Amino acid sequence: MPEIPLPFVQSLQNLLGAEAGDLLDALRQATPVSIRYNRGKTASGKFARETPVAWCPDGVYLAERPAFTLDPLLHGGAYYVQEASSMFLAQLAPVVQSLGDRCRILDLCAAPGGKSTLLAGLLPPGGLLVANEVLRSRAAILLENLAKWGSPNVAVTCNDPQSFGTLAGAFDVLLIDAPCSGEGMFRKDAAAMKEWSPAHVQLCAGRQRRIAAGAWNALREGGLLIYSTCTFNRDENDANVQWIQNVLGAERVLLSLPPAWGIAESEAGYRFYPHRVQGEGFFVSVLRKTAPSRPVRRIANEKAVRHTALKAASPVEKWLSGQFVFESRNNFIHALPPSQQAFIAQLSQQLNVLQAGVAVGEQKGATIIPAAALALSTALQPKAFPEVDVDIPAALRFLRRDTIRLDFAGKDFVLLTCNQLPLGFVKHLGRRTNNLYPAAWRIRMTLD
Ligand code: SAM
Repeated sequence: MPEIPLPFVQSLQNLLGAEAGDLLDALRQATPVSIRYNRGKTASGKFARETPVAWCPDGVYLAERPAFTLDPLLHGGAYYVQEASSMFLAQLAPVVQSLGDRCRILDLCAAPGGKSTLLAGLLPPGGLLVANEVLRSRAAILLENLAKWGSPNVAVTCNDPQSFGTLAGAFDVLLIDAPCSGEGMFRKDAAAMKEWSPAHVQLCAGRQRRIAAGAWNALREGGLLIYSTCTFNRDENDANVQWIQNVLGAERVLLSLPPAWGIAESEAGYRFYPHRVQGEGFFVSVLRKTAPSRPVRRIANEKAVRHTALKAASPVEKWLSGQFVFESRNNFIHALPPSQQAFIAQLSQQLNVLQAGVAVGEQKGATIIPAAALALSTALQPKAFPEVDVDIPAALRFLRRDTIRLDFAGKDFVLLTCNQLPLGFVKHLGRRTNNLYPAAWRIRMTLD
């Protein structure tokens, strides 16, 4: 671990007094390993010696770090590897669920998708999560992680926070998990420590205020803002929350937390210190918007890609369970939740929507090639495709996009499963198979 910067040590001493030494010691220790199970896919208890994360019913610590890349269950979206402090958002389940069954959540800074996958699990069936990532290069991993998680009521966008300002009052919940100076991640991320300086903290604090102000109009009056960072300093945390309260118009929502959890309460939020909790450094505050949203004149985007409704009685309707409307865009078929179809059309007019609903498949001539995301969707209709359950070595060969042989008669699209968990499709051609796993997702690790 590189040397901890002296001005950072001093800022910790200002914040914590004598306790700063304990925190610095914790930053020199190994980081705990934790995962969060996907309720839509599997029962918990896949690893030996799991211990629960106190604030997240689906979160567990593992006694050691397994070779996650070599576990097909990870690729099938049975769990997400996430540091435990960030799982605290699970505590907001009752508040989110009280916002109605068409609740819309905007996760503004979403890649790689840890909190998006958690929020997707809090949504009521008619709700929608919009997961946004401003950087196109990072949006790819967000798309992949959300596809593997498999929640159908999700859209992924790639926009600057300001672009959301035109969607006046459209969201009930806004999560700003802000880009920050990363002080709480120093033991995981040496680059964050190298980049740290007092000037960088100020730069981050200003950027965070611009992000909040840019998207603020998208949150409806009475809606919830969840503001979080993985840093300790006051400027990026309490001071920014107070600025949001005073300048943008919001009031705190107080949470009642058991003292045994070790989460500290600060002026304007809740702090996770690695010497007090088993997790990384984290700050979170929940606010209710008190200011009204201002109406914005919508400018239609003439270049927006048009979607066409699918003809009735298409075979794809049998591939999903639950209610969906099917649309085709550039021959790619998507299934959308009917309650959010009109809103998703509005999003497509105004934003850069990379994905909405379930990616079902691609029309190629008379054939529809089922999408990998369909295999991984929790809405996949059981037995819609012939299935072959393979052992772990065969699953890993599939995930590497190697050619695999199947004990299967007939020429068809086959859903490959491992421990009954869907991983993806192959096209079985009789003597050989075509591996349809996306090239961008393939495991690059050498297998012995
Ligand atoms: N929420 C994510 C999760 O739980 O997996 C982590 C988000 S990370 C702390 C912050 C994200 O903000 C990064 O993906 C980064 O690319 C994005 N970001 C950076 N600058 C930004 C800006 N000016 N506006 C919006 N997002 C930005």
